[in-house]
Amino acid sequence: MLTALTESNKIVNTLNFTRLQLKSLTTIKNQFYCPHCKSPLQLKVGYQKIPHFAHISTKTCSFTNQSESIQHLTSKKLLYDLLKTKYDQVHLEHYFHNVEQIADIWLETDTDSIAIELQCSSISISELRRRTKGYLSSRIQPLWILVQPITHRLPLSLTSFQQSFIRYSSTLGYFLLQFSPEERQFNIYTHLVPISLTKFSGNKTILPLTGFSFPITLSQVNQTICLTPEDWWRYRKKWSANKIGFSGRRKDLFLQEVYNDGDIFQYLPAYIGLPVPHMILIKNHPIEWQYYIWKDILKGKMIRSNIRVSEVVSTLKERIKKNNLVLRNFPFIRTHRYDLTYIVQQYLFLLQELGILVEVQQNIFQLIQPWQTFQTFDEMEGYNDELFLKWKHILNRTKLQEKSF
Ligand SMILES: [Zn+2]
Repeated sequence: MLTALTESNKIVNTLNFTRLQLKSLTTIKNQFYCPHCKSPLQLKVGYQKIPHFAHISTKTCSFTNQSESIQHLTSKKLLYDLLKTKYDQVHLEHYFHNVEQIADIWLETDTDSIAIELQCSSISISELRRRTKGYLSSRIQPLWILVQPITHRLPLSLTSFQQSFIRYSSTLGYFLLQFSPEERQFNIYTHLVPISLTKFSGNKTILPLTGFSFPITLSQVNQTICLTPEDWWRYRKKWSANKIGFSGRRKDLFLQEVYNDGDIFQYLPAYIGLPVPHMILIKNHPIEWQYYIWKDILKGKMIRSNIRVSEVVSTLKERIKKNNLVLRNFPFIRTHRYDLTYIVQQYLFLLQELGILVEVQQNIFQLIQPWQTFQTFDEMEGYNDELFLKWKHILNRTKLQEKSF
């Protein structure tokens, strides 16, 4: 921590002193206390970390994180120093009594009260939710920033904890805000589209630390299309190859279901596993959930019989109950108008464009092309190549914004 109480009950902050001044203070014993648990603190002025306070007793303080990483201390310092130059009311490690939470930085602007949380260590998603709720109940807007290092190469590889920092805006699509204290910059990954459980295609925009203010404004966001149909096709093939590779080592329930239903996983028609907007909300690859839609509903339908969006949604919900499908957890996306129903509608509309279904009434479709099975590899390749071109043509007609899956 960077703040402590003195004997005279005043808050001191290491960022307000020079290293030399702090060095001279370390010689005096027992003069600093934890503002939260009141136990004595030691002032540490070393060379690796920024000068900071640490509890003397090994007994853990329930309020503060015992060992803060270099990244956490440095990020706090960099952001605090910067915000101090832009705003009058900036408080370091502020404790909110009513919700019993400490914000790394509390910033008050003319209109907003913002708790900035710099998250370096992985904590549970329910904890992120609980703390967010706490702030909101006190009319404080939380701003969570991921400080964990991530591999900046695209496609982005994210752990499920890092994925929980993904938020949504109509202009940026699904995006992730990450701060890199080493580079003194924010990395903003926008238009994220999952290509597997942990990998995401997207665009990267850099916001230098000095450009940071509240609300965050991005003058230039990389708007190039990050995922071409060819890319998607390549990733889809890779995902399938991995799936078969893994199944050799352990039983894969999905593959078993495909084979038990008389289908060959490698010979599935190309309309199984197409990206649709907001599919990021489902953890599973679209090959899986789209196959379930076919297996549970569409395959059994006669040509020209009705298919309701609601029954397709129910079947996916059943699959979620059985744990065949899992939804992604985004604690920082609070109100979202996109859900499973929206995703299903988008998929059915795409099948309509591909000439497989037709919408006869709002939210009611009919099958006009039955399930495709192939006897040979060439037969499958021929059909899928043609469908791919059709899909590519559909995408070229759609506006850029609608293309953000
Ligand atoms: Zn303490």
